Amino acid sequence: MSVFEHHEFDGHEQVVFCHDPASGLKAIIAIHNTNLGPALGGCRMWPYASEAEALTDALRLSRGMTYKSALAGLGFGGGKSVIIGDPRRDKSEALFRAMGSYVDSLGGRYTVAEDVGISVPDVEIMARETQFVAGTSKGAGDPSPATAYGVYMGIKAAAKHRLGVDSLSGLRVAVQGVGHVGYYLCSHLAAEGAELLVADIATDSLDRVQREFDAHVVAPEAIATSAVDIYAPCALGATINDESLPKLQAKIVAGSANNQLAEARHGEALRQRGILYAPDYVINAGGVIVISHEGPAYDEAKAFTHVAKIHDTLLEIFRRADAQKVATSTAADRLAEERFRKPAAKATRAA
Ligand code: NAD
Repeated sequence: MSVFEHHEFDGHEQVVFCHDPASGLKAIIAIHNTNLGPALGGCRMWPYASEAEALTDALRLSRGMTYKSALAGLGFGGGKSVIIGDPRRDKSEALFRAMGSYVDSLGGRYTVAEDVGISVPDVEIMARETQFVAGTSKGAGDPSPATAYGVYMGIKAAAKHRLGVDSLSGLRVAVQGVGHVGYYLCSHLAAEGAELLVADIATDSLDRVQREFDAHVVAPEAIATSAVDIYAPCALGATINDESLPKLQAKIVAGSANNQLAEARHGEALRQRGILYAPDYVINAGGVIVISHEGPAYDEAKAFTHVAKIHDTLLEIFRRADAQKVATSTAADRLAEERFRKPAAKATRAA
């Protein structure tokens, strides 16, 4: 298994393989880029089929955090960690203490938080071994309301750019997935007078949004292609694919789900169809933005003001994409690269 030649390596600064036989910990910490600050990124626990699969995931996720943090203006770089194991079976205090010690050994180059399979109590065990932990109950707490608020502000930016409106009143929005983020998103949209179409596979979640926000329920397989102004994917990734693309009726795709494009080329395919896409890692950064504000002087109002900047960042990306005649996903990547590569370029010149 090659690391430096790995197809996802992309110039990573550091990749740490962690092994603690006593607790059974096998983990990888990947630090992609720290030009803008120390790396911040969640820890994922997953029963990877192989170490190679775990490495690929760590590298891919860590690189994604560099781009996300750069566009969110966090003063953090990109990193991520993965623990190889089944979160339902393999969790133990010893395992998370060992993970905390490995995070600590990096001396602050990487700050860990929650991701898939890792919850607040797990990172709180890590916090007994290291101060470089975010997302504990003493901090910002559940990031979903902040993520939803960022998505709402992003939808407003997209509506302004594509439809020329400042208000979402009267617009039809299809929300796919009304879980943590989707629920709070629906509350913002309903408060502004948007008409909601919703789908979920969990009926209790559906009942709640139907009752509280007068939302119309649509079958899960029909929501993405329903006749709406805005499609907000807030459940799974890869819902923009060869099959769904020709059938989309929305003029805007803007939601919280990670990795919405099945393949990078689908960004250009959306542009060709005149559908404005709010790049996922830009619009769903609200959670990581509030986590980046954690600390003894945490100020929720200040953190949410920062989240609201997603609106203007997206407007800049939309304008650049138009001017450069490229997909918004490409324009976002280029803007992020301008931001996080700049300090390195300066350092090279100085040397
Ligand atoms: P969640 O698990 O609380 O909600 C997801 C909802 O989608 C659930 O209610 C689930 O039943 C539903 N769902 C699953 N499959 C579906 C299908 N085929 N059709 C319709 N609904 C389906 O998760 P969440 O925290 O709300 O996150 C939603 C998305 O946003 C995820 O992709 C997540 O990675 C992303 N995201 C979340 C945050 C956050 O702060 N929670 C931050 C960034 C990105």
